[in-house]
Amino acid sequence: MGIILISYKIENIIASAKINTPIDLDALAAKLENVEYKPENFQAAIWRPSNSYGVALVFSDGRLMCTNMRSVQDVENIFKKLVKRLEELEMINPRVACPHCGAAIDTEDMVCIECGGLINK
Ligand SMILES: [Zn+2]
Repeated sequence: MGIILISYKIENIIASAKINTPIDLDALAAKLENVEYKPENFQAAIWRPSNSYGVALVFSDGRLMCTNMRSVQDVENIFKKLVKRLEELEMINPRVACPHCGAAIDTEDMVCIECGGLINK
């Protein structure tokens, strides 16, 4: 038995992603708008994009996290926006999806860092 939930609302989705490249967080903090990086307090840079209630975290090994998302669409939007900004600021080379596993990889890569598959140019 148990309680039957008749109504609920998604309040907070947390998601993580990898862009498979190291990121210089000091340089990021100097370039990206609305970002906070205090390595003595927390190891990730914290990005609070304007016009979003969400927060994205950027780790130096290329891991990304977002929190306070209300929908899967919000998650996709904030990650896409963040990766686009990283590309625009030349913090990372442009990313493409590996044709074998879908991982985000460098357009210059010959081999996928996630699955080892060869990337045809
Ligand atoms: Zn792959």
